[in-house]
Amino acid sequence: MSKDINKTNTHLEEALSDFISKISDDPDKDTDLIAKKFLTQLEKKFNFPKKDIDSIFSHLEGVNHNHPIYVNKIPFISFCEHHMFPFFGEVSIAVLPEKNILGVSKFSDLVNNLSSKLTLQEKLTEEIGEKILQNLEPQGTYIKVKAKHLCSDLLSPENSIGDITTTYANGIYELDSSLRAEAALNMS
Ligand SMILES: [Zn+2]
Repeated sequence: MSKDINKTNTHLEEALSDFISKISDDPDKDTDLIAKKFLTQLEKKFNFPKKDIDSIFSHLEGVNHNHPIYVNKIPFISFCEHHMFPFFGEVSIAVLPEKNILGVSKFSDLVNNLSSKLTLQEKLTEEIGEKILQNLEPQGTYIKVKAKHLCSDLLSPENSIGDITTTYANGIYELDSSLRAEAALNMS
């Protein structure tokens, strides 16, 4: 199995190296090395040992906290499933607990896990909210993702856009617009 992967990588490295030499104006550039490094880094990003969802939610703490908790601006890098170009930005999470809460760093682990793959910003936003709902069973959660998409800039630079913001709400956040407004205020 690993032999096949190495073989594929060799083909890929050769093809990529060839491509880089075609677009580079420096004939002395070590395009083999650039191609190898690029593919190694990319593989690392997709295959890095991420904490699986079950282990992220394995240590819940009981709480008597009936007020929202905000975990703001968790950085992420992901890859657009339509174009494979990166999109990157920040995830902010509001949770109104019911009986459980999670260590703050676990929210970063969750964002890391769900963003390290080919996906779309809308999907990522919803998936984060769904996983929190299923595993933490809060009264509700509200997710805001703000990201810059390289595909839009690179594919049509004349129509380049700024950030894209997506939101997702479930539970009490879906029902209560004042809670959503409070979350939005705390996330800005
Ligand atoms: Zn795209």
